[in-house]
Amino acid sequence: MSLAPATVVVAAAATPQHPAAALVDRGAIAMRSDPDASRRDAEAALALLRTHPDADLEIRARLLLCDYQSERDERAMQAQVAAIEALLPRTHRPGLRAGLLTCQGEMRETLGDNAQALAYFEQAVRVASEVRDDEMIAGALFSRGYVLGLQGEYALGLADLRRAQGLYETLGMRVHALTAMNGIAILYNRMGDYAQARDIYTSALAQQREAKMLREQAVTLHNLGRAHENLGEWSAARRSFTESLAIAREIHYARGEAYALRGLAAVDNGLGNWRGALDTLKQAQALQRSTPDARLRAQIDLARGIALHGVGALDASAAALRAAIEVFRSGEARGELATSYAELAAVEAARGDWRSGYTQLALAKQVSERLLRNQIDQRFATLRVEFDTASKEAENALLMRDVRENERALAQSRAVRRLQWVAIALAMLLAALLATLAIHQRRTTRRMRKLAHTDELTAAPNRRAVLGRLAATLTGEGAGTCTILITDIDHFKGINDRYGHPVGDEVLKIMAQALRDELREPAFFGRLGGEEFLVVLPDTDSVEGRAMAERLRERIAAIDLSHICPVGRAITVSIGVTASTPDDTPSAMLQRADEALYTAKHAGRNAVRVCAPVRAAG
Ligand code: GH3
Ligand code: MG
Ligand code: MG
Repeated sequence: MSLAPATVVVAAAATPQHPAAALVDRGAIAMRSDPDASRRDAEAALALLRTHPDADLEIRARLLLCDYQSERDERAMQAQVAAIEALLPRTHRPGLRAGLLTCQGEMRETLGDNAQALAYFEQAVRVASEVRDDEMIAGALFSRGYVLGLQGEYALGLADLRRAQGLYETLGMRVHALTAMNGIAILYNRMGDYAQARDIYTSALAQQREAKMLREQAVTLHNLGRAHENLGEWSAARRSFTESLAIAREIHYARGEAYALRGLAAVDNGLGNWRGALDTLKQAQALQRSTPDARLRAQIDLARGIALHGVGALDASAAALRAAIEVFRSGEARGELATSYAELAAVEAARGDWRSGYTQLALAKQVSERLLRNQIDQRFATLRVEFDTASKEAENALLMRDVRENERALAQSRAVRRLQWVAIALAMLLAALLATLAIHQRRTTRRMRKLAHTDELTAAPNRRAVLGRLAATLTGEGAGTCTILITDIDHFKGINDRYGHPVGDEVLKIMAQALRDELREPAFFGRLGGEEFLVVLPDTDSVEGRAMAERLRERIAAIDLSHICPVGRAITVSIGVTASTPDDTPSAMLQRADEALYTAKHAGRNAVRVCAPVRAAG
């Protein structure tokens, strides 16, 4: 789904007096800013090592080349693996074997074989842990966490990446810690937590700019574009992808260029500019041929399938989508798999092959349901990991200080006064620990509450949340007249029946986005259930409310849906409106708005009707 930050390669100085050591150290840092410079450093180091052999240094130089080739050329990478294996019996640092395993895993990952990659990374973690080589442990954890994230194992992935980041910070390897942080953002993005991901990317980008890490900037900008793409923020996505492309070109990073071009094509697809998307994808394909990245190829095929469908080249579209599906299926990329199946279903239907269309649709539904269920499970598991990590860290800190304080107390043995101080210090630490735990628990509770108040599909407030806010608005101090609208999509069942449930879901998301775009504070809205949304307009009378409803009705009728349902290109809504009376209740208001909605439906739909409140006589 996304470009991985560069793999972690050894950076610790081993033999500073050796002339090649400085080159290897510089090459390890350059891997993140300019991979070609890193390769040149490694090759120059190898030339020096021919006259002054040093097994450890040579392995580190070859690990740089192995890392460089693992996303470019399998044969060149295998040559480095063979050379490193021959050197390993002579090394003084047994942890370097973990670096080799990590590099081999990276190659499998590039080729789309995540299961094999994971097996390599597991072994690397084990080997590095046995010899307590923290830097190697961090590198292996980083790679393992990233692939776990690819497979939807967000909680496990997050735990690995957090540990890697912590180890790098302890080792003083700030550049590597930054890369791990970027990995964490990628994971949040996959979990659907785009806001969280965007925040981390933005802060990582600032630090990478400062450190002039060009390659990482290209990757982060691409991932930021991807987050915007997921949110349908096309112009922001275009900006990020364009900048990523410029940097990738500057550093001759073909794979990065291809990823950025794919992003630009996705933006064109999002805007219905099929021809533009196809042109861009042609360039991406040409670049992709120079890297063995199977997932990238599949992503290009998916975008091509969508664009070809758009221009009516149905056979070519189906072929591209099937090629994409094959890779996504073996790579367990469920989000993209569901999109590909749904698109293929639409293409098959357009070709008149209803039976195949139905099969693809059923597969799409199956995959997206599994994805959704997994996302929910993983969100809860992630909250648990966050809580456990925090409490374990606090516990460890306490234990460490406990041990240190005890040693000091023993050394100055009978000084009772000192012991009293220790007791006081421990009590304070305990208080600090309790405070940390309390803060963390409050944060976790807040997140849980947010999940409980959000509609999973549209990310809008759910029924409970929006009705709660309405009740508070009615009883709030100095509350004036408030108007509510119930919007209901016309003949929505027909959309589900014709195009399938996933397309219906898309329509609901588009509907929620339209409301989000139209409404300004203090107005708010939420999903009541099914295809019904409630809009609340505080300090608004029924005349203004009706005008707002008309505006919404027209805006929604103007939405072009041709990219998801090719035949019926538009939706309409019926809207029931009512204004509050003093001492009104949410349920009385809902009942009136529902009556108005019923009248609007009865009048032929695509209409707004107002139900005036019955005023008490006198
Ligand atoms: P009307 O114009 O009278 O409102 O007709 P309608 O077809 O929109 O209304 P009806 O109440 O008959 O059908 C609503 C449909 O909405 C039926 C149900 O399957 C579908 N629906 C409810 N929740 C969801 C959802 O989360 N996703 C999808 N795709 N469909 C949903
Ligand atoms: Mg309804
Ligand atoms: Mg309806």
